[in-house]
Amino acid sequence: MSTLSSIPGFLPILELISTPLPAFLITLSLTTIPYFVIKLSVTSQYLDLFRMLSSNLESQLGYNRKHNSLQNEFDFIVVGGGSAGSAVAARLSEQYQVLLIEAGGDPHPLTYVPLMAEALVNLPMIDWQYTTEPLNNSGFVWPNQKMSWPRGKSLGGSSNSNNMIYMRGNPEDFNNWARYTGDERWSYANVEPIFKRMEDYDGHWKGSSHHGEGGPLRIEKSNYDPSASYWLKAGKELGKRVLDQNAFQSEGFSPLDVTQKGGARFSTFRGYIEPNFNNPNLTIHRYSIATKIHFDSGMKAIGVTYYRHANKKYASAKNEIIISCGAINSPKLLLLSGIGPKEQLDSFNINTLVNLKVGENLQDHVLGMAGPFLLGKNVSFLRFRDLTPIAATEYLALGKGPLSSPSGISATGLISSQQNDNKNWPDILMMHVARGIDKNMGKELEQVLGMKLNSGLSKFFEYNAMNDSNFVFVAVGRPKSRGYIKLASNDPFVKPLINPNYFSDEGGADLDVLIQGIQFAVKVYENTTAFKELGARLAPNHFPGCEDHAMKSRSYWECFIRQNPHTMFHPSGTCKMGPLDHPDSVVDSELRVIGTKGLRVADSSIMPFICNANLNSPTIMIGEMCADLVKNDWPNITPEKNVTITV
Ligand SMILES: Cc1cc2nc3c(=O)[nH]c(=O)nc-3n(C[C@H](O)[C@H](O)[C@H](O)COP(=O)(O)OP(=O)(O)OC[C@H]3O[C@@H](n4cnc5c(N)ncnc54)[C@H](O)[C@@H]3O)c2cc1C
Repeated sequence: MSTLSSIPGFLPILELISTPLPAFLITLSLTTIPYFVIKLSVTSQYLDLFRMLSSNLESQLGYNRKHNSLQNEFDFIVVGGGSAGSAVAARLSEQYQVLLIEAGGDPHPLTYVPLMAEALVNLPMIDWQYTTEPLNNSGFVWPNQKMSWPRGKSLGGSSNSNNMIYMRGNPEDFNNWARYTGDERWSYANVEPIFKRMEDYDGHWKGSSHHGEGGPLRIEKSNYDPSASYWLKAGKELGKRVLDQNAFQSEGFSPLDVTQKGGARFSTFRGYIEPNFNNPNLTIHRYSIATKIHFDSGMKAIGVTYYRHANKKYASAKNEIIISCGAINSPKLLLLSGIGPKEQLDSFNINTLVNLKVGENLQDHVLGMAGPFLLGKNVSFLRFRDLTPIAATEYLALGKGPLSSPSGISATGLISSQQNDNKNWPDILMMHVARGIDKNMGKELEQVLGMKLNSGLSKFFEYNAMNDSNFVFVAVGRPKSRGYIKLASNDPFVKPLINPNYFSDEGGADLDVLIQGIQFAVKVYENTTAFKELGARLAPNHFPGCEDHAMKSRSYWECFIRQNPHTMFHPSGTCKMGPLDHPDSVVDSELRVIGTKGLRVADSSIMPFICNANLNSPTIMIGEMCADLVKNDWPNITPEKNVTITV
C-alpha cells in the first residue's frame, strides 16, 4: 500500500471510489442506463423499420427490380403470387427463367403491423372483396345473408392479410391425402421435411427436431398474450396437454407461433419474393390479371393472356404453366380457359376442352364466435385503454405489445367432438382471443367485414361495452359440407359465384360439432379455477334474434350460430387432387391438370380434404412440393420433353 500510495493521484482516486455514491447519482445511473439501453434498441428497431418501409416504398415504385417488358417467352409461367405462388416462383427461378403474373402490387405497408391487419381486410387495393351467395337459413348479420370472403390481392396474396397463425395441420390430414391419391409423397413423413425446410423457426418449441432453421419463412412466438397463461392452465384442468401442434398435432392447448419477424408480419412476399429482387431469372408482372390459358392442338398449355394496366398482353411458356390463384380464382381461370363442367361452360358459350369437376368440393372452416366471456381483471386488449403512446414506443423499440398482436389471438386449442373416434386427429379448432369490448367494436367490425350495419352483432357487443373479455373462435376442423365456385359470366372481370353451403351435410354433423365446440369453450371459462380466478362468465345477454331460446341451451347455440356465422378465411378444395381415374379429380397427385400437358395447379384449391389447421402453412408447403415435382420433371431444360396426362 505504501508503494502504491506513492503513485501520484492514487490516494485521491481511492478516496473517490470508496466514498458511497450520493443517492441522486445512484438514481441517475439506475434511470439513465436503461434509458440508453432502450434508446439504443429503439434506434436499431427504428432503423429496421426505416429500412423495411423504404424498401417497401422502392418496391411499390418498382425501382428495385428487373424490368424486361420485351421478353414474353419464359421457361415457366406462374400465375398468382400468393402463399403458394410466391414459393413456386422463387424455387423455380433458382434454375429456370420464370414469369410471375400477379393481379395486385406490393403489400400495403400497414400490413406489416399485425394489429392493423384487421382494418385492412376488404380494402379494395389489396383485396378481391368477394361475397358468397345468400347462406341457407343462416348468416342473418350479413347483408342479404351474403357473407364477405376477403382474399388477398398483392404479392404474398392472403399471407399479407391473414392473422399470421402458424399451423401445419395434422399428420393424418396428409396421410389421408396420400391414401386417397395413392401417392406416398403426400404422407406426413414425406411432407414434414418440406415444412422444416420452409421454416426459419424461432417459436415456442425452438430446438425441437420437428422444426427447421434458415428457411425462407420466419416464425416467432406471439409477443402479446395477456391471458394465454390462463387459457393453457384451464386446458390442463380439463385434461388437455400443452403441446406443439406443429410436431404431431393432437388434442391439446398451445401457445401461439406466428409468421412474424421482430413483431412485423412475415408474408411470403418477404420470405420468397423480396430476396429475389435481384434474381435475373425471375420476372414479375404486377397489376396483371390473367384471363385465359391457351393450349396447342395437343392440349399442351402454351401461354397466358393477361391484362396489365388494362393493356391486353400475352406471354408464352416453353415448358409449363402453374396456376396459383387461390381456391376461388384458380378454378375461375380454368373455367374461363375451357376446363370444367361441360354443362356450366356451355351455358356461357365457352368451348369445353376437358370436362372436369372444377369448382366443386369447396370447403371452409365455418366459425362461431363464442363469447364474450367477461373478465374481472385487466387481462385482455382494450384499445381505448391499451393502445397508448407507451404501447407504440414498446412496439417500435421491441416489436412487442398489442400492435404486434393478430387481433388479440394469443393461443389455440384442438379438441375432438363426440363423433370423432380418433383423438389424435381432432375435429374442432379453437382460437383464444384476448380481446375486450371497445365502445364501437361491433360497428367497426360490421364496417370492416362488410356486415349489415347495426346488425345483431353491434347490439350484442353494446350490452357489454368497455369490459375486459375473451372470445373463442371455434371452427369445424374437418367439415363434411361441400360448396362450389361457378362462373357468373364469361366476362373474366365479373366475380364468380361462391356458395360455401355451410351446414348442408346430411345428418347435420357440422352444426353439431360446432355446437359442441362452443359448449366446450363455455366450460373452459366457467368450469375451471384458472378462469374462475378472473371471475370469468359468459355475457348474460341473448344474441339478438335468439331471445326465445333458453340461454346456453342447444337450441340457443344453434340460433346463435345461424345468426352470426363467420368464415375462418380458409376456402380450399376446388381443384381437387385425386387419383387419375377418379371422376372428382381435377389434378393428379403431381398437381397436373388432368387431360392437359404442361399445366399444374398449386395452392389451397388442390387440397382434397381441408387440413385441420389454418391454411397458410400447408399451402406454402404445396407450393414447395410443386416446385420439387417440376424440378424433378425438368432436370435440364429440354423443351422437347412434355409431361403428358391422359384421362
Ligand atoms: C383475413 C384472413 C385471415 C387469415 N388468417 C390466417 C391465419 O392466421 N393463419 C393461416 O395459416 N391462414 C390464414 N388465412 C388463410 C391463408 O392466408 C390462406 O389460406 C392462404 O394464404 C391461401 O394461399 P393461396 O396461395 O391458396 O392463395 P392466395 O394467397 O390468396 O394467393 C392467390 C394470389 O393469386 C392472385 N391472383 C388471383 N387471380 C389472379 C389472376 N387471374 N391473375 C393474376 N393473379 C391472380 C391473387 O391476387 C393472390 O395474390 C387467412 C386468410 C385471410 C384472408
